[in-house]
Amino acid sequence: MGAPARLLRAVILGAPGSGKGTVSSRITQHFELKHLSSGDLLRGNMLRGTEIGVLAKTFIEQGKLIPDDIMTRLALNELKNLTQYNWLLDGFPRTLPQAEALDKVYKIDTVINLKVPFEIIKQRLTARWIHANSGRVYNIDFNPPKRVGLDDLTGEPLVQREDDKPETVAKRLKAYEAQTEPVLEYYQKKGVLETFSGTETNKIWPHVYAFLQTKLPQINQKSSVTP
Ligand code: AMP
Repeated sequence: MGAPARLLRAVILGAPGSGKGTVSSRITQHFELKHLSSGDLLRGNMLRGTEIGVLAKTFIEQGKLIPDDIMTRLALNELKNLTQYNWLLDGFPRTLPQAEALDKVYKIDTVINLKVPFEIIKQRLTARWIHANSGRVYNIDFNPPKRVGLDDLTGEPLVQREDDKPETVAKRLKAYEAQTEPVLEYYQKKGVLETFSGTETNKIWPHVYAFLQTKLPQINQKSSVTP
């Protein structure tokens, strides 16, 4: 019997609104690997009311990151169940201490970094407007109201949720940048950072796909259909 193929240990990084969710789900559609999202892991714990879930809720509700030691313990514990699979981490590591703790246990082969200009992300994330009384949702890019800034049915002015306001979005993006910059540098130094830049997810995706195909041929492709 030959030596078992080496398993892929990958991380995907990208700001909110960078298309990371879409790219991750396409990766899992086309390649045989487990996708571990820290946000999903935390939400699952919150739903089940586990000790970590209860703790995580207090941080998430305040818009804070989960402390590194708790987050690391949770992620590493989950990865123990996935030793025989290829995996892609999404949302973890988010800080340098998390990346360092992960490195003590697993050698990361590749880090897919999605780089979308902040102006484009801001445009995407601030495109949602709502009619407060009915909850009707519009998107300036995909589903605009018939008259700028006004609800189609009542003609009343549309508003933006706090989260979707340019100031809030800019703050979130700045916070992401500050947390993630050291993580990017860390992986850059290790020579595993692979950056994919662009303004449209559909144009970035074929490059990610081609990269995973050539660099990591050991991943089984579930389908031969071109992406
Ligand atoms: P997400 O779905 O990735 O946006 O995660 C939702 C929330 O979970 C974040 O706003 C953080 O509060 C928390 N969270 C997710 N991943 C991490 C992480 N790696 N480190 C710390 N907090 C995290």
